[in-house]
Amino acid sequence: MSRSGPAGAPDARRTRLTVLAGPTAVGKGSVSADIRLHHPEIWISVSATTRAPRPGEVNGVHYWFVSEEEFDAMIQRDELLEWAVVHGAARYGTPRAPVEENLAAGRPALLEIDLQGARQVRAAMPEALMVFLAPPSWKELVRRLVGRGTEGEPERERRLVTARLELAAEAEFDVTVVNTEIHEAAEELVALMVGAQSVD
Ligand code: 5GP
Repeated sequence: MSRSGPAGAPDARRTRLTVLAGPTAVGKGSVSADIRLHHPEIWISVSATTRAPRPGEVNGVHYWFVSEEEFDAMIQRDELLEWAVVHGAARYGTPRAPVEENLAAGRPALLEIDLQGARQVRAAMPEALMVFLAPPSWKELVRRLVGRGTEGEPERERRLVTARLELAAEAEFDVTVVNTEIHEAAEELVALMVGAQSVD
């Protein structure tokens, strides 16, 4: 299910850059992984990050894993379209050149980034299609967030407060996709991306 925000349905003249953002634990990573698997025609940006790779993560595939110094240098050289400190820990950013190259080649391009990054992209590229991934309900988001219940009460409370703020950002987006089921949400997003570029 998707719903349009106050800005209305996506404008037909929008270009192919699509930004997917949403609250923590809503499943953005799973939705973009599903698109990566089923839609090779869609180019998904590989972010640079200062966080350490997790087991199974491959440099250049999941992220470009860089040092703090390398990240600083990328900022200095203005190589990042946007960047942010996420969860108060590592820095994450979108390398600008591959985005521009893929858009110039006519490929639909997708950024899966946090809300701070999404706001920067909207300011830099107002023609981008901004998609908010929402949970089916607040109860379900809480379930996904607190999940295994390994965090203590203060951490749980902190996450819930953040999630409330993040959910309130929905109104800033062009369209909302509700993530009830990962593959369905992924297909809905692809349909929006294709629709946004097929009309001029
Ligand atoms: P993780 O460390 O779990 O892979 O990602 C943590 C968060 O960083 C996710 O919410 C993801 O959307 C966000 N993120 C990943 N890449 C970027 C990026 O290039 N820019 C921004 N602003 N956020 C990103």
